[in-house]
Amino acid sequence: MNQIISRRDFFDGIAVSALGSPVARVAHGAPGQAETPQNAAYGPRGFTVRGDTSEALSVPHALRDGRFWAHADPPEATGERYDLVVAGGGRSGMSAAAEWLRRDPGAAVLVLDNHDEAAGQARRDALRRRIRQERPDGVMCDAETFGADTLVRLASPGWADEVPIAERARRDLRMLHEDPPDWFPRLSAEEKQERLAALTYSEFLLQVCGVHPDVERFCRTMPCREWAYDTRAFGAIDAWGAGYPGFGGLVLDRDKPSRLNSPSVRQEWQAGAGEDHVATPPSDGRARLRLSSPVVFARDGAGAATVGYFDGHQVMTVEAGSVILACWSAVVPYLVPELPEDQRRALRSAIRVPLLHATVRVRDARAWRRLGVLRVRWTGAYWCFCELESPATVHLLAAPCRSELGPGAGAAAGRRELVRTPYGRLEHTIRDQLARLLGPAGFDPAADIEAITVDRWGHANTPEYCRPWHPYYPDGPFPADVARRKFGRIAIAGSDSAPVGRGDAAVSAALRAVGELAR
Ligand SMILES: Cc1cc2nc3c(=O)[nH]c(=O)nc-3n(C[C@H](O)[C@H](O)[C@H](O)COP(=O)(O)OP(=O)(O)OC[C@H]3O[C@@H](n4cnc5c(N)ncnc54)[C@H](O)[C@@H]3O)c2cc1C
Repeated sequence: MNQIISRRDFFDGIAVSALGSPVARVAHGAPGQAETPQNAAYGPRGFTVRGDTSEALSVPHALRDGRFWAHADPPEATGERYDLVVAGGGRSGMSAAAEWLRRDPGAAVLVLDNHDEAAGQARRDALRRRIRQERPDGVMCDAETFGADTLVRLASPGWADEVPIAERARRDLRMLHEDPPDWFPRLSAEEKQERLAALTYSEFLLQVCGVHPDVERFCRTMPCREWAYDTRAFGAIDAWGAGYPGFGGLVLDRDKPSRLNSPSVRQEWQAGAGEDHVATPPSDGRARLRLSSPVVFARDGAGAATVGYFDGHQVMTVEAGSVILACWSAVVPYLVPELPEDQRRALRSAIRVPLLHATVRVRDARAWRRLGVLRVRWTGAYWCFCELESPATVHLLAAPCRSELGPGAGAAAGRRELVRTPYGRLEHTIRDQLARLLGPAGFDPAADIEAITVDRWGHANTPEYCRPWHPYYPDGPFPADVARRKFGRIAIAGSDSAPVGRGDAAVSAALRAVGELAR
């Protein structure tokens, strides 16, 4: 056998099909949890997968499934000692390192991340900013939902007539947009908001507005590009806050948010929200960044903490005066098993929502121009949104969350499906959907697609407290209050600890964690 199989592959079970040995079978872990084996070999020219790849996730998943320590050699000390070691090189971890050095310029800081590039989710902030500002100008009523593909151009005044649904459903759609009644005429404004907070947007459409089911199917993917789940999980109160159709007759004050809106919807009302003081540590050697180095434990000790990370071959350890865990909260219980049970439970409850972002380099934008739309939402196909960025880049987003289960359970189920989805399917669906959308305008995927990069984020959007899923919101007490408790020399940062899916929350969490350790 000439195939080189790294130790990292072993942890993810990728080696199973190659080896078939009893050891490899043990490494495979729970059925259905491990990465699909074909992905290790999948790599046609011009197709790249980045982000939460099988390589980046192999060690965290092996830790989760209890396979890691059965196969790892005993840790080896590097002999290094740092004032601060940070797990997670996203916006929060980098901000923590920068803030530590601002307070103590002579300090030595180490940042460890499991990916082979730094910056975590912040790498996609520019895309999100554009998505927030620009609404879709087309909806592809796709074959997956309506039996055949029909592109509806929203700029044309009679667009509702083009939607391939029954006439009664079209009437309902027009009513939602143009003249919705007051659905709760006898309730005060506050009571109306309470009613909305108890419903998802799908429930609002079907149960309160009583619209034809095709209308709900037409609207379903509206929140996906921002929230990574659909209207079956998206709250009606946040749909109102985001200006979705159907609420005009309620005559609620649109000058200010409801206290029941989730944190990032509330922040949309504040001028300048979205920009934050991004801090990066100086590049003069005082802060070291070690990539492809997942942290596997952090242990508090009498004179110092010890942090272990996997360097691709074995576990290396460093000593740390202080530790900040700015990785995903759900990972922390595996890194610090000594944490109290209530804190471990609270940390595990922060389930990030998966999201895929594909960047496709195309030969030119002529087909888009002929088509007359730039940003298209799909109603049920794998990729729920695609847009042209001039001059010749196409972005696509996919939201594998199983929204019918709610944001938490749906995210976990969607992620399980995502790790089993062959990379070949990701590539095929991109080519297929671009051909279906742009083919009538002369686009030929075989000739016109030059390169595809998929950022696969199994752990993407920070889970926020939102109605109707978290009845304790906004009054508390919140699981995050327990989850972010300091443990000896170990503090917990990251946007999950807020929990708010915004860059400014990630930075604030970092400043809080540094402040806790400095006390
Ligand atoms: C598509 C998208 C676009 C966005 N756009 C905006 C925007 O325009 N404006 C805005 O304010 N916010 C935006 N956000 C939100 C913002 O980017 C995130 O909330 C923020 O970047 C999260 O930072 P973080 O450091 O908490 O988490 P992350 O960026 O996820 O960083 C955590 C890091 O920890 C690493 N890690 C996990 N486990 C381990 C381990 N065991 N060892 C070592 N490292 C580990 C992860 O790989 C990751 O790199 C966007 C989010 C998304 C999903």
